[in-house]
Amino acid sequence: MNWLLAFGLGLMLGSFMNVVIYRLPRMVMADDEGKHASPRFDLWWPASHCPQCHTPLKTSHIIPLLSFMWLKGRCGFCKSTISPLYPWIELITGLVWVACAWHWGFNLSALCWAIFATTLFALAVIDWQTTLLPDDLTQALVWGGLIASTSGWIALGVDQAVWGAVSGYSILWSVATLFERITGKQGMGAGDFKLLAGLGAWLGPLPLIPLLILASLGGAVFGLTLKFTHKLGPDGYVPFGPFLAAAGLLIAAIGIDPLLTGLGW
Ligand SMILES: [Zn+2]
Repeated sequence: MNWLLAFGLGLMLGSFMNVVIYRLPRMVMADDEGKHASPRFDLWWPASHCPQCHTPLKTSHIIPLLSFMWLKGRCGFCKSTISPLYPWIELITGLVWVACAWHWGFNLSALCWAIFATTLFALAVIDWQTTLLPDDLTQALVWGGLIASTSGWIALGVDQAVWGAVSGYSILWSVATLFERITGKQGMGAGDFKLLAGLGAWLGPLPLIPLLILASLGGAVFGLTLKFTHKLGPDGYVPFGPFLAAAGLLIAAIGIDPLLTGLGW
């Protein structure tokens, strides 16, 4: 029963993450261009509708996973195809919540880590699709880690959380500033600094070292693979956020000891 509850909660949050992943970057871009969205456009408004025919969805159309299966991946009104990314995001979030409950038990700690993982997952997808890491999510990650540690909801000392956040931001800021001075090119965005600050607030300062090594290796291998298979143009850019998020999730799940052994330390 508990497992079903974890899966159900994950599915529901995954469904909400679909809204966040689609709308939040569009809200950020509208803000950046100084355009006040009109008619109103935010996470809550307008109600979910088909992107093709704009018909507002019925309640039976927004049940996570099941609606997609009933409707066979098509809009209930105009029959245009719905991106399979939606049910995948719901399913993965549901499974992440089950995995957190399995790893940490049915307690507040598991709930905190499930929210941590869901936020990282949303950030990774948004960065992948748009190369943006919205402040609302990266800052929520920082504050969330500090609050969870201060309240004793996760087993991380308050000093660790604070120094984790501070060092996460400063390490990447320093690397990026140095890179910019030397090459005159911008390598990373401020979103990456804030994301690593968020990861530091949940993991502490020390794990950020193997995390960065892992994320850089992952990003480099992936970028080079794309380059050599000609899937990445000369100005092509592989966002760093998804690799930071993936390395952060891995370390949250297994700790740093197996990684340090793997790196030969
Ligand atoms: Zn439609």
